[in-house]
Amino acid sequence: MKELGMYIHIPFCIQKCFYCDFCSFANRKHLIPEYINALTEEMKSWKEKLKEYRIKSIFIGGGTPSIISIDEMDKVLRTIYLNFDCKKNLEFSIESNPGTLEKEKLAYYLNNNINRLSIGLQAWQDNLLKSLGRIHNQEVFLENFLLAREIGFKNINIDLMFGLPEQTLTQWQETLYNIVALRPEHISAYSLKIEENTVFDKLYESGVLQLPSEEQDRAMYHFAIDYLQEHEYIHYEISNFSTKGKECIHNKMYWNNEEYIGFGLGAHSCLGKVRFSNTKDLNEYINKDNEREIDYIIEEKMSQKDEIAETMFLGLRMIDGIEIERFTKRFSCSPLKLYRHEICKLKEEGLIHVDGKKIRLTRKGIDLSNQVFVDFLPD
Ligand code: SF4
Repeated sequence: MKELGMYIHIPFCIQKCFYCDFCSFANRKHLIPEYINALTEEMKSWKEKLKEYRIKSIFIGGGTPSIISIDEMDKVLRTIYLNFDCKKNLEFSIESNPGTLEKEKLAYYLNNNINRLSIGLQAWQDNLLKSLGRIHNQEVFLENFLLAREIGFKNINIDLMFGLPEQTLTQWQETLYNIVALRPEHISAYSLKIEENTVFDKLYESGVLQLPSEEQDRAMYHFAIDYLQEHEYIHYEISNFSTKGKECIHNKMYWNNEEYIGFGLGAHSCLGKVRFSNTKDLNEYINKDNEREIDYIIEEKMSQKDEIAETMFLGLRMIDGIEIERFTKRFSCSPLKLYRHEICKLKEEGLIHVDGKKIRLTRKGIDLSNQVFVDFLPD
């Protein structure tokens, strides 16, 4: 039986963060019941088409999935369990934000096989949280984290950001010291990017936003790598760290360029060598006629060449790199032969390292990863 990852998108938030360009909406909570109906109808419509697949990981993301009620979440979970073949003890993650987690919800998640909780903290300092437009403060985060532990969550991720406006290296270090002291199983640490059409974009354009310099941003990143490794976190992907055995199976599936199905607003899928996505228009998604199949937006029919290129640059995101033997088995050709010139050039520039078994980024290559990935893009 073929294996598949499943992503489910819940696009509702209490407030829109100033840096966020995700498919998410504030002030639309009244549409949640209709959305859940449309979502579960979409999922059911895939039952037959996915009958040859076994689900190996599920990720409910957003938005803020933890704002929907237990009853609404129950509809989603029942739809999954009734319509799809799920692997026993699969990794099942849910994203959440501090201030939206209560005892009953957490207990419901755990009792219904959601075994991995991701909490969006972003920064430790209340002034930074406020300047990002986050709804919580440090105290609320701590309460929610400790409650999740008390309920029994043994696999928790904390999302962090660095390179924030007016953030100092000392503040970033303080964030890491405090998070490491809590010993979450997984930490994601992303550098802030100014995305188009966000509040930060407008502030940046008008020259009001004081961002750390490129050197300060890199110093924060390097500190995170060294400090987390010293404290027994494995740096397994450019922006992700975990304790032993707690790497995120769902995200590794993306980086290994494997198949996945996405349900919900704007969700992306990659199935049978076709990449497609759902509309990002909330009204259109909710009001679609249930008799009619969803009009997915076909983004790409992948040729073998595209698939090979994607497998290269997605695989290089993982610190362990690309396994030459596995790649060769999948595409009947060694990457060393296919990309002889690119690999030679990148090795000379000190951006990648090749041994008999793997191709991986060097520390310099991690910093300049976008420059490396460009070399593998198809013409
Ligand atoms: S909580 Fe997450 S998805 Fe919602 S607005 Fe903030 S960053 Fe975006």
